[in-house]
Amino acid sequence: MARKKIVAGNWKMNLDRAAATALAAGVAARRGEVSAVHLVLCPPSVYIGTVGTALNLSGDTSPSGVWLGGQNMHDKASGAFTGEVAPGMLVDMGCRYVILGHSERRTLFGETDATVNAKTKAALAAGLVPIVCVGETLEEREAGNTQAVVTEQVRGSLAGLSPGELSQVVIAYEPVWAIGTGRVATPEQAQEVHALIRSLLGSMASPTVAADVTIQYGGSVKPDNAAVLAAQPDIDGALVGGASLKVDDFLGIAAAFNS
Ligand code: PEP
Repeated sequence: MARKKIVAGNWKMNLDRAAATALAAGVAARRGEVSAVHLVLCPPSVYIGTVGTALNLSGDTSPSGVWLGGQNMHDKASGAFTGEVAPGMLVDMGCRYVILGHSERRTLFGETDATVNAKTKAALAAGLVPIVCVGETLEEREAGNTQAVVTEQVRGSLAGLSPGELSQVVIAYEPVWAIGTGRVATPEQAQEVHALIRSLLGSMASPTVAADVTIQYGGSVKPDNAAVLAAQPDIDGALVGGASLKVDDFLGIAAAFNS
């Protein structure tokens, strides 16, 4: 997948059906304002069908130009996994993307790099674009371990992928201390880790593959701080939590990447 600007909204466990429909329709209606940016909406799984209808998704096309993503999935295709969603089910409902290894999945639901690695492989096999999340905690940053932690997460989460598979992946660098806290990384802090991730991809695959991978920043991105992040050479978009729940804020962030 060629590198492009991707702004994705992680709605987490928020909204009801009517609000999800209105938010998706509101984004789709103004999608033309940010036509250079690839927009992705990731609703709670029970609302994926509803949002797909609001986006007018049909098969592999999105007339609205807004794409659908899951927030999580299981790595198996089917079976006795109560409460879980299979990769093929997301595809069946029109999803093209899936967020994997979000820090809330890692810290609240015990996901490890090995879990994320299995899910990443399953997503690619199903034809989904995985948005693989990595990022250090505040303690890890303050102890000077950011680079080591992110390196281990990238290597572990993407272990065993071929260069061709690596070129299909989107990575989201989300410092845990910046998620939902209102405390955004400085553009320099974010750029430093994005450059590290790109150089890791270079050594895992090739510089050509590394140059092709979209690396998003996530963590308290808002319309008023998105432009300085977007100006960094290795920041190719945003994974947005809180601000993705309002049409104006989500599109305001996308506007910063629309060049
Ligand atoms: C997220 O959960 O991925 C996220 C970045 O959240 P927020 O934008 O609210 O910090």
